Amino acid sequence: MKDEGEHKKTNRREFLNNGIRYSLALGMGGLGAILAVRSKGDELVWQLDASKCVQCGRCATDCVVTPSAVKCIHVYDMCGYCDLCGGYFRPDTKNLTTAAENQLCPTQAIERKFIEEPFFEYHIIKDLCIGCGKCVEGCGAFGNGSLQLQVDHSICVNCNYCSISRVCPSEAFSRVPASKPYLFKGLNNKLL
Ligand code: SF4
Ligand code: SF4
Ligand code: SF4
Repeated sequence: MKDEGEHKKTNRREFLNNGIRYSLALGMGGLGAILAVRSKGDELVWQLDASKCVQCGRCATDCVVTPSAVKCIHVYDMCGYCDLCGGYFRPDTKNLTTAAENQLCPTQAIERKFIEEPFFEYHIIKDLCIGCGKCVEGCGAFGNGSLQLQVDHSICVNCNYCSISRVCPSEAFSRVPASKPYLFKGLNNKLL
């Protein structure tokens, strides 16, 4: 029978060994959702290029869907599993506890879980995320940039002309094939 330490190590290995698709499955509500999108073939869908996004906040306020179809996605492959996570904690936080006042996210949509010393895993609770980008900015400034905004195609209604794209200051929005509907940064800007 494994002791608690062995369990923690196994858990972290499992997290680190699971690739980008597992990360997406956690972040976007399941592999089924991704496969459903892919089955749309050559249809075009709206996506934002995470490498162009400057986290202006308009993804949270200008989507026709409430809360926004833009969500934070955690690209686990890029994450440092940091104790002091710039995406989770406010910059002025004194104690690294999960108390609400220490959290950067306005809706407490990020779950922090101990894996093994000194590593922590961060999981986005999609239903609570409003796509404000605060955590994305914090992770980019102080961490690896593994938290990124993306249009969640299980929520987006694929407007003729995306209302966020009209106001995006960095022209990050474009239409991409539904078969490759994500545009992350730090992964050679590949569409996944
Ligand atoms: S509107 Fe553009 S720059 Fe602003 S958060 Fe959305 S994608 Fe990023
Ligand atoms: S800080 Fe904003 S973008 Fe990040 S998880 Fe919270 S609501 Fe979503
Ligand atoms: S296409 Fe429409 S539903 Fe999708 S992100 Fe843009 S405004 Fe929101």
